[in-house]
Amino acid sequence: MRILTGGFSHESNSFNPIITGEEDFTVVRGSGACDAEVFAGYSSSGIAETLAGAGAEVVPTVLARAIPGGIVSGAFYAAIKEELLEAARGALKKGPIDGACLALHGSMKVEGNICAEGDLCTALRKILPGVPFTAALDMHATITPALLETVDGFAGYKTAPHTDCFETGVLAAKTLLASLSSGKKLYTASQSVPMMLAGEKSETSSEPMASLIGAARDLEKRGDVLAASLLLGFPWADSEHNAVTVLVTGFEENRNALKEAAGDLAETFWKKRGEFTFSAEQYDSRGAMEAAFDAVLERGERPVFVSDSGDNPTAGAAGDATELLETVLSMNLAELPTPLLYSGFYDAPAVSSCIEAGEGAECGITLGGNWDRVSGRKIPLRVRVEKIARSYGPCRADLVLLRHSNMLVSVTSRHIGFGDEGLLSALGVNPADYCLVLVKLGYLEPCFKKIAARAIMAASRGCSCEILETIPYRKVRRPIYPLDPGMDWRPAVQ
Ligand SMILES: [Zn+2]
Repeated sequence: MRILTGGFSHESNSFNPIITGEEDFTVVRGSGACDAEVFAGYSSSGIAETLAGAGAEVVPTVLARAIPGGIVSGAFYAAIKEELLEAARGALKKGPIDGACLALHGSMKVEGNICAEGDLCTALRKILPGVPFTAALDMHATITPALLETVDGFAGYKTAPHTDCFETGVLAAKTLLASLSSGKKLYTASQSVPMMLAGEKSETSSEPMASLIGAARDLEKRGDVLAASLLLGFPWADSEHNAVTVLVTGFEENRNALKEAAGDLAETFWKKRGEFTFSAEQYDSRGAMEAAFDAVLERGERPVFVSDSGDNPTAGAAGDATELLETVLSMNLAELPTPLLYSGFYDAPAVSSCIEAGEGAECGITLGGNWDRVSGRKIPLRVRVEKIARSYGPCRADLVLLRHSNMLVSVTSRHIGFGDEGLLSALGVNPADYCLVLVKLGYLEPCFKKIAARAIMAASRGCSCEILETIPYRKVRRPIYPLDPGMDWRPAVQ
């Protein structure tokens, strides 16, 4: 039994003007794709290990992924797509392929208004007609008709923050194996819900997501459902396909029961639409900073975390919006018992000026506003270069820690996220030592959540603005909740 594997993942924020290209992607080709350290813990590893564990021959193609950002370069997408397809054609020349299982995101958008996953899977399906084909998806996948037409079975993440990527790959592979071992054809019932949802309202440890995910897990226990997924879509892309989608995969022989299950779960989701709220206390930028200063100075809470949620690079934002920074600079930072720590900014010119000046030197820079010209502007600052760390992480970003007034700021030369504690420790910083920590994140990642005395979300402005009603969508189909709050809807499973 030979199973084709591979993956191509990106979450593309169409409001961010930065085009995500070759230098942003980690790409592993051929046999290296099965056990690449850089993909350990991802769905691609869960797929490969499960298939190999079942005695199948894993036929690798290519794995490519990048952290969220602006839409993907058309030339780069076309090149990786062709590599994957060429590997599939090459594998077919050596013998029959019995199935395919890919690790995808679901919300990758490419220059030219291409929805990547549907386009890629349609092309692969032409090479592999008739064999079972499953895919692992991110919870923030946007389901398109092309994807539904070409892929037989789906498994989506059931946790946010995403801690079950590997397990999702396992389920996608098991779904494929269930079809191959039984000889039964897979079927996926799909029901979209006209709704957009900010990720920060849908943490799975909180209601209503906790019980909705519980309902999906219950479906998987009842016998006829191989995988049940709630795909929430991605609100920071302006797409006609934006919606929440319930997908329930099982065997074709149970088609009607699967449709009914998808419709029921979609209806339950819709009924709870008013219950999705931010899990952290949330204010505009000014209100968030005032609440944070009050927490530190009046209540003695520390460290207090404030998320600069409107400019969250892990949701694809530019990472150089300055609306919250400008608010910070208007506060009396000298009142704070430790420097305010701000992690951080994507600003390659600022990093190179600091590297040129050297550790311990003072220099004049501008911070922010290189890319996000809507919510960012270049803020002139006189800074002292505290620390430089070269070539951090898979993107080999240069990092600097700079001081301005009673504030320390981490700045990166590459568009990377600020959700990992490794970035700060590379700069010799332990966030627990600071009274007030600002992070360009939405919900806090577990490493920050566990040390935060208090978590405040600033609904700041930027390419990942949490207040969806204020985003200037042009392509999103209307009516849709919450843009059309009074709308009514009933499911009609296709
Ligand atoms: Zn996601």
